[in-house]
Amino acid sequence: MFLIFGVRGKDKIVGSRLGVCEVCGATAAQTLIRRTTKFSLFFVPLFPVRPARHFVACTNCGRLRNAAREELIPA
Ligand SMILES: [Zn+2]
Repeated sequence: MFLIFGVRGKDKIVGSRLGVCEVCGATAAQTLIRRTTKFSLFFVPLFPVRPARHFVACTNCGRLRNAAREELIPA
């Protein structure tokens, strides 16, 4: 018998809003991304191994940065 297990991350787009990018300075849609990392067994995600993290991606320059608390959109 053998086990297949691992840790996999998954990104989910939570929302987007118009804003000024901190990286390129352009006013463009900023996409809020929620990243969860889960322990999986036989490719089935079982439980998160760390709290979800949020990133903001700029649609103009494509750079990712950490989302500030006030930027989080309630689901
Ligand atoms: Zn940008």
